[in-house]
Amino acid sequence: MARLKKSYGQHLLVSEGVLKNIAQSLSIEEGDRVVEIGGGTGNLTKVLLKYPLKELFVVELDPEMVEKLSQIEDERVRIIRGDASKLDFCSLGGELKAVGNLPYNVGSLIVENVIFHKDCIPVGVFMLQKEVALKLTGKGEPSWLGVFLQTFYESEYLFSVPPRFFVPPPKVDSGVIRIIRRENQPSLELKGYKAFLTKLFSMRRKMLKKKFPQELLEEAGIDPHLRVEQLSMEDILRLYNVYEVKR
Ligand code: SAH
Repeated sequence: MARLKKSYGQHLLVSEGVLKNIAQSLSIEEGDRVVEIGGGTGNLTKVLLKYPLKELFVVELDPEMVEKLSQIEDERVRIIRGDASKLDFCSLGGELKAVGNLPYNVGSLIVENVIFHKDCIPVGVFMLQKEVALKLTGKGEPSWLGVFLQTFYESEYLFSVPPRFFVPPPKVDSGVIRIIRRENQPSLELKGYKAFLTKLFSMRRKMLKKKFPQELLEEAGIDPHLRVEQLSMEDILRLYNVYEVKR
């Protein structure tokens, strides 16, 4: 067994049942192209290969794990040594269903990178730290990344997974989410929208008027005394549109 490294967030999922549930949630169809993020020793990879997918890209950062993954004998597998928080998913050619038991230390960064490549990722199923999984599905604390994700994807919390299903067991519970790209998307410039959201969610307890000019808030029809968690998605998009024009 490979030596597991904390720095890479390596917690292998060893429950056959949970692995199957994750793969099942991706609804793989004949001929699909799939990308697995953080292949590790290939526990999930092997389950995914039971489906009639056409191509399976496996992204992995740790060279030792890449070595292990290279031993899988299946013509459909393409191993990519790289950082999934930076990888250009669209360079893999065409649409991909994404899946992974994400390394928790960079799970949010990977989800962010997926959103930046939404044009080639219609669907994703990810295991994350439960707290992050809840935030991303609008159930936990409001966060900029949760709003960023939900602007472009419908996101659903599927199920929780306790530490005992992993080797070594993490200190926290995990949660699996599914994201499905929305049909009607606002056309926004992603970098600018991200910068706006991080500003909006900075100093969360402060009133909006501390972060944006009062006139701007009023023009968007938003009470300047509110706090960010009191805004709906529609409010946020309306404010962004006014902010964009005024910038
Ligand atoms: N899929 C396996 C392993 C999950 S652990 C299983 O379920 O058992 C997470 C994996 O992500 C580890 O193998 C780790 O080396 C890898 N990893 C860590 N950071 C990464 C990154 N930035 N990009 C891609 N893979 C990464």
